[in-house]
Amino acid sequence: MNDSIRKDKDIKQIDSPLPPLYSKWAYELLSGTFPNETVCDCSNCEQLDKNGVLPLNDNSNFHPETKCCTFYPALPNYMVGRILKDSDIPAMPVVNQRIENGFGITPLYLLCPDNDRRFEKVNFFGRTKAFTCPYYIVNKGCCGIWKHRGSICATWFCKYFRGKVGYDFWDSIKGIFLMIEETISLWCAEQLDIGCDSMEQCLKIGCILKDGPLEQDMRIDSREQKKNWGNWFGKEKEYFIKCGELVESLSWKDIKKIGGIKLETYAKIVKKYYDRLLNKNILERLKFGGLHIFEVKSGYYIISIYNDYDRIEIPIPIFEALRYFDGRPINEIMAQIKKEKNISFDDSLLQFCIDFKLLITV
Ligand code: SF4
Ligand code: SF4
Repeated sequence: MNDSIRKDKDIKQIDSPLPPLYSKWAYELLSGTFPNETVCDCSNCEQLDKNGVLPLNDNSNFHPETKCCTFYPALPNYMVGRILKDSDIPAMPVVNQRIENGFGITPLYLLCPDNDRRFEKVNFFGRTKAFTCPYYIVNKGCCGIWKHRGSICATWFCKYFRGKVGYDFWDSIKGIFLMIEETISLWCAEQLDIGCDSMEQCLKIGCILKDGPLEQDMRIDSREQKKNWGNWFGKEKEYFIKCGELVESLSWKDIKKIGGIKLETYAKIVKKYYDRLLNKNILERLKFGGLHIFEVKSGYYIISIYNDYDRIEIPIPIFEALRYFDGRPINEIMAQIKKEKNISFDDSLLQFCIDFKLLITV
């Protein structure tokens, strides 16, 4: 679960970890490649106990039969269509069953039935088998809709090679794709002439299915279902497939046109964090930013700063040197640390401390 201070060699430019449709748009948006999160090895999950200890109330291990897949995402209509047209989807029976049963489907989304319950219980994340995502393939330990998963799943990592800098970048990518999911699913519904009354219903429901007596039993009210689906009632699968086909040919330029000013604003935010991710920036004046100590070991502490899942080992002398950072000019502080502790902060160590918010700007 822990690793020591990360150095530049960890940073690799490789293919985007996003689903193919989103990769295509993201490459066009950024005009560049993605740095992948190489410190997150999901095939050898970072958050499991190395000795196989299951989650207990006093540890923070994830469950080996869920890993971080205790989330149940809402899927936008076009992603559902892409899943239905793909012959290599391990979780296809679940998707088919949800559509055939009609429960929690609207012309905009395949919704999650019990999100309220999940979101209330944040401590259960990664630790509760009862919350396993239905699209998760337990015996293979992987996502059954991987190529077409939604924005929240596609942008989540438990740790980032550049700490908070990586987190901020991926959070901005999540933001823009959540907005795209909302806008493009609406655009698809409009293109397929879902009808004004259905659209009104769908907008009221949004992407989170409200909890109610029927929802708890995964039952549907067929009168409401008819209102929701308007012209497409009884042809839901066909509708989802058409949404997938409509979106397939959209370029980033098209997405921009549909998304308007709101999308432009999100795009600016993404570019800002992309720029930060690709560049290093040692600042002139820094102060200690605080941390959380989890464990004291011989010669080092296990700490977290910006995210409890991303724990790092920090040698005690480095930890002690951090208190010298009080906003004075960097050179003055470095000279004092060298003199009193005989420790040199090279650029790489300093950048690490900035990236992980161990040191913050004054
Ligand atoms: S992102 Fe999820 S599966 Fe991957 S290492 Fe982290 S907790 Fe494990
Ligand atoms: S959709 Fe896939 S990645 Fe997301 S929680 Fe479910 S199994 Fe995990």
